[in-house]
Amino acid sequence: MKVIDHLERATKPLISFEIIPPLRGGDVKNLLTLIEDLVEFRPPFIDITSHAAEVFYEETQAGLQRRVKRKRPGTMGVCALIQNKYGIDAVPHVLCHGFTREETEDFLIELRYLGIDNVLAVRGDDSGYQKPLRDGRSANRFAVDLVKQIAAMNHGRYLADDLLDAEPSNFCVGAGGYPEKHFEAPNLKTDVRHLKAKVEAGAAYVVTQMFFDNRHYFAFVDACRAEGIAVPIIPGLKILSSRPQLASIPRNFYVEIPAALADGVESAPDEAVLDVGVDWARRQVEELLARGVPSVHFYVMQSAAAVRKLLGQIDV
Ligand SMILES: Cc1cc2nc3c(=O)[nH]c(=O)nc-3n(C[C@H](O)[C@H](O)[C@H](O)COP(=O)(O)OP(=O)(O)OC[C@H]3O[C@@H](n4cnc5c(N)ncnc54)[C@H](O)[C@@H]3O)c2cc1C
Repeated sequence: MKVIDHLERATKPLISFEIIPPLRGGDVKNLLTLIEDLVEFRPPFIDITSHAAEVFYEETQAGLQRRVKRKRPGTMGVCALIQNKYGIDAVPHVLCHGFTREETEDFLIELRYLGIDNVLAVRGDDSGYQKPLRDGRSANRFAVDLVKQIAAMNHGRYLADDLLDAEPSNFCVGAGGYPEKHFEAPNLKTDVRHLKAKVEAGAAYVVTQMFFDNRHYFAFVDACRAEGIAVPIIPGLKILSSRPQLASIPRNFYVEIPAALADGVESAPDEAVLDVGVDWARRQVEELLARGVPSVHFYVMQSAAAVRKLLGQIDV
């Protein structure tokens, strides 16, 4: 079922999760345990991130060697598991960076055969690796280009012009939004205009980047509505669960951690840091629900410990 249909039919706010596939060569057992920990909360859908190849430099006897590695393949396999073993709608993330449009089309064809109805279209960050475009291959630059490609497939228009009577796909497409603006955008207004272009191209809903101060989310929703974006905007939340995240989250995601939360984490004994993060996120969720959000999306990634603790404390 499509994410927008889940939202439309919901009689109470929905709780969804986002997880990452295992590292290359890793075991799927831990992931299965994670999914089983999440299934208990009856999520209508679970997102699975995608990871492009990255460039690494390694010291070898022959000198510094440039290597290209894709650390986390397996998005499609994890989606097939979630959808078919657990009967939960899987939302694979589809990227521009690291993939040709032709590879993206193949990926979408396979997702369709697996009965997957939803995709989240994001650009991906620059990993230092640019896929060489040989033999007439092409690439999507911005997420809006990817949304247009998926929308075209939904109308039966595949990349090959000579493909006759192609079956239209029927994907529900989500897009990413940034309450504290995307780090490359010159200002929030310009970024919101770029988000509007994704919605006009076919994105049916938005999931936000994590934020730790709800005021950013409420102001962002107001800015989107003022710009004419009418689709659901699902707040994405991350539960801060370790002291090093005070530095890594702002560095990796370009979001602020409010002083009260940072102070609470810094002054807590090690064994109480998770409780500080859970308590903060609980208050965020309570306020968001009280203000009528349609759904809350948790960036769970690899461990359900924090989100289980939080969901055990609120009535959803
Ligand atoms: C919910 C969510 C899920 C994510 N999942 C993943 C994942 O699975 N894997 C992963 O690698 N990354 C993921 N990301 C991170 C994301 O790929 C990065 O934040 C990336 O830098 C931007 O992606 P985007 O889709 O917002 O890009 P875009 O919408 O393309 O925007 C990127 C930047 O370009 C600007 N821009 C957009 N269109 C134009 C235009 N026409 N002209 C000029 N500027 C323009 C925007 O304002 C913005 O600053 C996710 C992010 C979110 C919010």
